[in-house]
Amino acid sequence: MSIWKDISEVEVRERRLHSIISYNGTGKDLHEKAKAGYAASLDRSYSQCASCAESCASTITARTKDSAVVFHSPVGCNATVINFTIGIRSVSLSRNKQPYDVQSLCTNIQEKDTIFGAEEKLRQTIREADRRFHPKFIYISTSCASGIIGENIEAVADEMEEELGYPIVPVYCEGFKSKIWSSGFDAGYHGLLRKIVKPPRKKQEDLVNIFAFEGTDTFTPLLDRMGLRTNYFVALASPEQLETMSEAACSTSICETLSLYVASALEERFGVPEIKSPPPYGTDWTDTWLREIGRVTGREKEAEQVIAEDRERCRDEIEDLRGKLEGKKLYITAGDAFGHNLGNTARSLGVELVGITSLHHDLMTDNPASVNSMDALVETAGDIRNFTICNLQPYQIIKILKKLKPDFLLCRHNGMNALGAKIGIPTLFEGDANYSCGYLGVIRLGRRLYEALQTRKLVENIARHAELPYSDWWMNESDPFYFLEGGTNEQGN
Ligand code: SF4
Repeated sequence: MSIWKDISEVEVRERRLHSIISYNGTGKDLHEKAKAGYAASLDRSYSQCASCAESCASTITARTKDSAVVFHSPVGCNATVINFTIGIRSVSLSRNKQPYDVQSLCTNIQEKDTIFGAEEKLRQTIREADRRFHPKFIYISTSCASGIIGENIEAVADEMEEELGYPIVPVYCEGFKSKIWSSGFDAGYHGLLRKIVKPPRKKQEDLVNIFAFEGTDTFTPLLDRMGLRTNYFVALASPEQLETMSEAACSTSICETLSLYVASALEERFGVPEIKSPPPYGTDWTDTWLREIGRVTGREKEAEQVIAEDRERCRDEIEDLRGKLEGKKLYITAGDAFGHNLGNTARSLGVELVGITSLHHDLMTDNPASVNSMDALVETAGDIRNFTICNLQPYQIIKILKKLKPDFLLCRHNGMNALGAKIGIPTLFEGDANYSCGYLGVIRLGRRLYEALQTRKLVENIARHAELPYSDWWMNESDPFYFLEGGTNEQGN
């Protein structure tokens, strides 16, 4: 079945990839179940907090240079975009590029609009975005409100495209449609693939698409020595770069949760091969990733040289860090595939991976041959005894941490990191997703984990004074999975 369909929206992950938001077991068991096409996904009768696909779509739309985003929503839906301006400014400066701001407006859908419709407001807001920002294209980011009242976004986009003379890109990311927030990544990239990315005019044999967020430029030092250019998406990418992503020699990413749809669609539609080995996190995955890039781009010798040089350069410090960290117990909370990446990086340091909580798990990929970091993790790390899928429920994770008592906690998402300190566990926040990438990334993670260990006395002190918002019943008597109930998920259903 075709991955790419020239229709207005891409199916959400629950239906496309049979993704799940709850599971409690082991890494191997989950992986076996995913391969067999079945894993129970229980619903929660109580959710402490959540996010929404619209915010994941914004990680793409709001970061795009020389464009604007019109949120067709109540004002609260676009609150998270403020964060992106800070990120874009810092990454621009760190890469010696001209900083730019997020350019967004909101139609501010109100109660009366839900009765009379808000399409005229949308037209006016698009005109205002054109007047203020002079963008090269404009995204329309949808919301629960615009979806529920059935706004004809396609018609407005076509009309405004004709009026303004440049692409208007609808991104269908209504929060109610999916409990898998990562569906928003697919929605954002689908909009780009549909309206902005053009068929290749020529192949750029030395160009590597890298799907990432912002973060440190850790890919160029690896690929530059192989005579390859990095083409990061979407932060800092110009509209011209977006248009020509179809000309690259291959695509890779910091994690397949972000890129699985766009990379598979690019491969199918324009013949840009997706790198099928897991991303370069941990020394062994970095070896295989570089070799795969070398194979696909015809630079095998150069890849071997980079591996030999970097292995030699990093060997002593990695050994030293292994001596300090060997056997220490680590727990990770992260988005789906990124948890696997961090787990493998920690393995290179001899750290014992006692458990992972992922925000969701995709039981399948769009292209069955795509990269599968879970497969690689289970193969390299053996089983992960405590593997939980949980879409950001601190009340549940805190019980797991109390039981397992890891030496440190590694959190990919802001807000979870305070949790560790409150219960006396030294905690690291992995805000920069690129930072632990490559051989140097292993050292960077090792140094930070070692520093985190030195904070034990401090966090124990914090824990003694911290008040948790949970009852004694919850903390002492109940099962962490008490609020899970019913539901199944089976591929093909
Ligand atoms: S789109 Fe829906 S779920 Fe998302 S922030 Fe707006 S109201 Fe909330």
